Amino acid sequence: MQGDDGRLHHLMNQVLHSNRDMAEDGRLSVGEQVPIVKLANRIIEIGIEAKASDIHLEPLKDGFRLRYRLDGILWQWPEIFPRRAYERLIGRLKIMANMDTSDRRKPADGHLRYRYPNGQMDIRAASIPVKHGESMVLRLMRNEEELRSIEELGFTPENEALFRRLVHAPSGMVIVSGPMNSGKSSSLYAALQSLNVTSRHIMTIEDPVECELDGVNQVEVSVKTGLSFAAGLRAALRLDANCLMVGEIRDPETAQIAIRAALTGHMLLTTVHAEDSVSTIFRLLEMGVAPFMLAATLSGVVAQRLVRRLCPYCQEEDTEAELDDEEIKAGASPPTFYRGRGCDQCRQTGFLGRLAIHEILTVTPPLKEAILARRNIEEVRRMAKEAGLQTLYKDGLEKALLGLTTLSEVRRVLYGDG
Ligand SMILES: [Zn+2]
Repeated sequence: MQGDDGRLHHLMNQVLHSNRDMAEDGRLSVGEQVPIVKLANRIIEIGIEAKASDIHLEPLKDGFRLRYRLDGILWQWPEIFPRRAYERLIGRLKIMANMDTSDRRKPADGHLRYRYPNGQMDIRAASIPVKHGESMVLRLMRNEEELRSIEELGFTPENEALFRRLVHAPSGMVIVSGPMNSGKSSSLYAALQSLNVTSRHIMTIEDPVECELDGVNQVEVSVKTGLSFAAGLRAALRLDANCLMVGEIRDPETAQIAIRAALTGHMLLTTVHAEDSVSTIFRLLEMGVAPFMLAATLSGVVAQRLVRRLCPYCQEEDTEAELDDEEIKAGASPPTFYRGRGCDQCRQTGFLGRLAIHEILTVTPPLKEAILARRNIEEVRRMAKEAGLQTLYKDGLEKALLGLTTLSEVRRVLYGDG
């Protein structure tokens, strides 16, 4: 992708030297022959080839920049492009996404299905007026990559065993928690796939259905028809499901019905937006779930994040990385960490792809007692750690020691850049 063999630069020049106006370019049916059409296509194809999740086009004072989100981090194209091509490019992309090209002063969104030699890609487009024009983001929807088996989720052997035990219990509630884009859906889909046998009736209520699972009844939430998570869940309970997956619990009503489902002998899998495993418990209590209901149903919480994976082509020992975690320092001989030197394979970043780090909290009898006794979050967290909770940080550290990622990457994801 480095420099793209100059193809993008070349296409940009063609656009700049063609005399057509934007409307003419964008709507022309000769398609492939028109420079602006080729340019827009090339920008999208670069994103697809580089496995980007998003493409950002942003006007600057004197030009515009192009950025791709790769492994969760924005990477800027080395060249700043001339402003003259920008409006036409945005116009073309808007036409491709069926967006209104006449009004540039309002935020807009659209959708396109991009076909290329090896397949097709669903892309969501959104634009918003900013200081120097219109900014646009194209989100590449890579659903096929979400489907993984439990073995492919990157658990340590201990965590994999814990996860299997939790999701294969006859009933109860298992929650996967984390912020946006932390791989929560992949974990839930993996669990569902391992539960998917003909003797089990599995239903999901999702917003939207991200992957199709053969043999699973998947219901999509819809604002138009009033089918909410809560309404879908209520209906699923009448349909004699053994196992239910609810895309997310984000309101008290859904929380109540989910808890009731778990209480009446169903296995319920869901996600909650929370920092870590212990704060997930408190998030549900804040939503008005009664402590005795939670203690009776919650069997475990998996908190997770995605960190960038070290590039295998250029990784080397990192002699400067240092632990600041006292207890681990005390226990271990001087640890070895790794870093990526940067090479063509990883666009000089030292990373290639991502992997998940996990923290699995099993709700044990003492923890149930603590929930019932309404202990505060610090007390519960201390209890969980004393009982051997492998925190996100420790899991990340373990993976850094194995050379799968770096210590600073784990710190960045968990604590921010500062
Ligand atoms: Zn590399």
